[in-house]
Order: sequence, then C-alpha cells, then structure tokens
Amino acid sequence: MVSGTSYSWGMTLSSDTRSRSSAAPAEVLHRVFGYDQFRGNQAEIIDHVSSGGDALVLMPTGGGKSLCYQIPALVRPGTGIVISPLIALMQDQVDALSAVGVRAAFLNSTQSPDARSAVERAYLSGELDVLYLAPERLRVASTSALLERGTIALFAIDEAHCVAQWGHDFRPDYLQLSMLHERWPTVPRIALTATATEQTHAEIAKRLQLGGARHFVASFDRPNIQYRIAPKNSPQQQLLQLIRSEHPGDAGIVYCLSRASVEKTAEFLVANGIPALPYHAGLPAPVRAANQSRFLREDSIVMVATIAFGMGIDKPDVRFVAHLDLPKSVEGYYQETGRAGRDGQPATAWLAYGLQDVVQQRRMINESDGDDAHRRKLSAHLDAMLALCETVECRRMQLLAYFGEKSAPCGNCDTCLSPPESVDGTVPAQKLLSTVVRLARERNQKFGAGHLVDILLGKSTPRIEQHGHGNLSTFGIGTELSEQEWRGVVRQLLAQGLLAVNSDGFGTLVITELSAAVLSGSRTVSLRREPERPAKRSTRSAKAAADLAPAAMPLFESLRAWRAAEAKEQGVPAYVIFHDATLREIATGRPGSLAELGTVSGVGEAKLERYGQRLLDALTSAAGA
Ligand code: ADP
Ligand code: ZN
Repeated sequence: MVSGTSYSWGMTLSSDTRSRSSAAPAEVLHRVFGYDQFRGNQAEIIDHVSSGGDALVLMPTGGGKSLCYQIPALVRPGTGIVISPLIALMQDQVDALSAVGVRAAFLNSTQSPDARSAVERAYLSGELDVLYLAPERLRVASTSALLERGTIALFAIDEAHCVAQWGHDFRPDYLQLSMLHERWPTVPRIALTATATEQTHAEIAKRLQLGGARHFVASFDRPNIQYRIAPKNSPQQQLLQLIRSEHPGDAGIVYCLSRASVEKTAEFLVANGIPALPYHAGLPAPVRAANQSRFLREDSIVMVATIAFGMGIDKPDVRFVAHLDLPKSVEGYYQETGRAGRDGQPATAWLAYGLQDVVQQRRMINESDGDDAHRRKLSAHLDAMLALCETVECRRMQLLAYFGEKSAPCGNCDTCLSPPESVDGTVPAQKLLSTVVRLARERNQKFGAGHLVDILLGKSTPRIEQHGHGNLSTFGIGTELSEQEWRGVVRQLLAQGLLAVNSDGFGTLVITELSAAVLSGSRTVSLRREPERPAKRSTRSAKAAADLAPAAMPLFESLRAWRAAEAKEQGVPAYVIFHDATLREIATGRPGSLAELGTVSGVGEAKLERYGQRLLDALTSAAGA
C-alpha cells in the first residue's frame, strides 16, 4: 500500500492478482465485475483484443464499452493504457475500478508532481492493470519515454469520435494518436465510440490508422428510452410539467443552448422546488466540478447544462434527458439523449422544438466562421435534425436509419404512441410564400415570421399601420389557421428548404430556389399536424416499471439510504458502491448467505468481501423489524 498519493489501490483480492494474467475473460467478468454474461458482442470483442487484435467498436452509450478494454487489460500481461479526454471523470473511473479490486490510476494535468511520480513508479513496476491518460500527455516526450519502459497490455482510445472533424466533438489532441501505432506497432489498439454515422466511422479508422482493425458495430437501438419531440410553447412550464408528472425525484439532464438560459432555467426549477444545478463553460472550474460531483453523488439532482456537460458521465440512473433548444446535429442529440437510462430501465428523451429554433440555428450558420464547405456541413447536420423533428413516422426508425440501421416502428416514441397526421399544406404554403414575394418585389422589404403571420391573419398592429401592409393583397387571407398553426407552417417550410433565413442577421425570411415550384402549383407541400393529445408515458411510471414489488420497496429504500451514507463516507458516487438494479435484486430476492449474495448481478468478489456481511446483517434486522 502506498500512502500519500491521490489514487487508491482499491482492495487486495483474496486470490493472487497475478493469476489474472492467465484468467479467461468469462471468469474475470464473473469474479471481478459480478456479472453472469457478456452483453451483445462484448465476448467477441474481448476475445479479439485479448489475443492481440486491433478493434474499432461502435456501441451506443450504455452498451457496455468499458468492459471491452478493461477485461483484456486484466487478461493480458502489462498495463492497459486508456486514452480519454475526460480529465474531470478520471478519479471516478479509477474509484469504480478500485471498488472491484482492479489496480487503476491516472496521469493528467490536475495531479501534484508527487502523485504523478507515485503513479509512474507503480506503472514501471508492473503494479497497474489500467492507466488512464489524457491525450495531451502524449505530446510530452517524457510520457512516451515512460510508457516505453513499462509493459503495455493494450491501448484503448475512448471517445474515439473526438478524432473526427466531421463530428461534433473534435479535439485536436486526438489527431496525434496515430503515433501509437507507429511507435508500438505490436500493441493492440481498441478505439471506442458511441457516435457512428458512416462519415465519423470512416474518419476514425483513417485518422487512427486502424486499417487492419476489425470493426464491431453494435445495434444503436436503446429500446428503454422513450423519444418525444414536442412543439415548444412555454418551454420552462412544459419542462416543469414533465418533471412533476413523470419524473418526480429522478435524476435528469436538461440541455439549453446558451449559458444565460442554463442559469435562468436552473433558477426557475429551484424556485419551483426541483433540486437543480447549472453547468456551463462560463462557470468557475471549482463550481463546475462541485456541481458535477453533486449530480453524480446525490440521487435526484437535475443538471441544467450546455453541451459542455455529459461526455463520459456514466451515471447509470439518469431517468430523463430534456432539450429545451434544438440540438445542432442528430449525432449530438443521440449522444446526449443516450445518457438517459444506461441501466436499461425506462427513461425519457424529451425535446421541445419551435419556429424560433430553426430561425436561430439558420442564422447562426449564416454567421459562423469558416468557409462555405464548413457552412454546408453545419447545414447538412441541421437538416437531418429538422427532418427528425418534422417526421410523421417513428422517431426511432428515423434515428436508427441515420446510423445506417433498418428497423420497424418501435411503439415507444411519441409518433408511435399518438401518430400525427400528414396533411396537404400547399395552399397555406402558397399564401405565405406569396406574401414574402410581394413584400420583396413590390416594396423591396423583408420581414421575420411574426410580422408575416400578422399580415396573413389581418391583424392591425403598429407595424402593419406604419408600413401600410393593410393594402397588401395577401392581408387577412389566412384566417383559417391560428397564429400557432401559422408558425408551424413557417417552421416546416424552413425545415423543408422552401423558405430561408436571410443572411442580414435579423432573422428575416426569403424564398429559395425551391419556392417557385410551390408558387406555380407544380410542387405540393405536406405538413405535419400535431396530434390532439401529445404522447406521454401512458400508465407505467418509470419507477413502477422497474419491477419492484410494493413489499420490497421499504427494504430497497433502506438499502439506498445505506448506500448513500457509505458513498458519502468514501467520497465516491453511489453507483460505485452498487447500482440500483443490484439493490433491487437484493431487496426482492433477500439472499440469506454470502454464497447467495454472490450470485446477484453486480456483486463481484471484492464487493462481496467488503459489504457482504453488512448487507446480510441489514437484511436480517429488516426481516426482524
Ligand atoms: P458505455 O461506456 O458503453 O456507455 P458502460 O461501459 O458504462 O457503457 O456500461 C454501461 C452499464 O452496463 C454499466 O453500468 C456496466 O456496469 C453495465 N454492464 C456492462 N456490461 C455488462 C454485462 N455484461 N452485464 C451486466 N452489466 C453490464
Ligand atoms: Zn416509434
């Protein structure tokens, strides 16, 4: 045991840790992690990497990527080097491994020199199974020199999509990771990501020089997540309603586009009795770290955040992810929503989407730095996201199709649960487009959506008076639709490219090359009509659906309370002690012996030794009470 360092060695296993080198993967899965079976293609991946092969693994968030490199790191001689951009989470990752008896540590810029040299010594003397490394450490010559002097079991490149410029999380430091192959050609490499469009996939393989790697592509479906996209009316109230009616007391993440709206939304939730915290890049680092730590450690915090938050957050029991603003790409959206329900229990992905989102994002693209190619890329991303929002078909089918997967209607998304109608919107589209054309041709004017709708509805506002728009031939010709419905028409025309946001920075609207065909009647327009009653999780609440008999509830709650106290004392997230699913199985099955307890999923050798007797005592006294 080395003292005075910032990392922990975890527990010493009763069996000799060295014997792991020859252990079979299935045996390690059971003994160390306490799981019965590999999931999906984990077994294949682990076999391939354990026997020295390179792998590129595409698996959705929550699919179980970590074991794909952790087990080969334990089975092969030497230390598994894990490259991860998530410095702030390395301590938790090391804690989680230590809790199951794996010897893990990290090297990053947050460490004191003393702590760093202790880790280096441990690595050199072969006392580490897993070493986490920030990619920028590899730029430092001394790091490569250090690695040379030890034995490397494998390189795992986590969040590998960070190497792709096409994607949404590009990190320049990832580009130099191709050097791993040049410098250590015989050490197996496994690159992992939850982002998987064709482009990103191809870019990862190319930039990391994974030409000879086997590709493992898992299904990207996350059947336990219910996808819903709702028209945005009063987003904060809608969010509050969602939390109160479907997710009271649950942990969740709320994504907003701007720092200001993060702050406002968090304040609003707190004022309404929801324990919410803000997270964005403008907050001081210690505040950010403290908020993240509370989110991970406490049971029912709602984190309101920009997309700066979440990558690598492996809290298993996030029950909902809400987006109050339109994400910029389907890839980003899928990763963010994927943070819900990693434990496989029911979870909600809810997005509020409206006209203003489209205008704002088109504007941001117009104004973005970079060349035309860059703007085209941003537009392509946005178009795919808009198509998802406007679809009248199963959301999941469309999402999976985006990742190249065919599927059938899922029965667990809003369009499946209450199908919207597709209606012929050619006439309203013509009315709107001809208003835009008349203003431009007759008066050389351009306006935003609000004013155009006022004209169609024949309203007498100061602006209408001022410009004499009461005389336009389209004034008042659209009273068959409500203001809300007209905004929906504008939004959908924008989404379909039949209307565009002008590049003047004011959000005024102009026609496009495609508009003429609509005006001349040679092209029809279909529009989505919202269902009368939007979908909600029908009868089962998330918690009830988690299959806990009412009789087991009090025991489950007291186990959770025990876990919370234990986590606090150790300064680790509760899920590092045990997952909800494990406590649920214990509360339901009430094991009567250590042997029985050892068969519960998530109870491996180290945890059985550490907590087993105390859990049995707690169960006995609960039974007597
Ligand atoms: P990812 O990194 O792909 O998002 P993780 O590696 O964090 O996913 O795994 C998600 C969850 O599933 C974790 O809580 C992990 O402990 C659990 N898990 C992974 N593999 C298995 C398995 N074979 N059996 C049971 N649980 C597993
Ligand atoms: Zn569906």
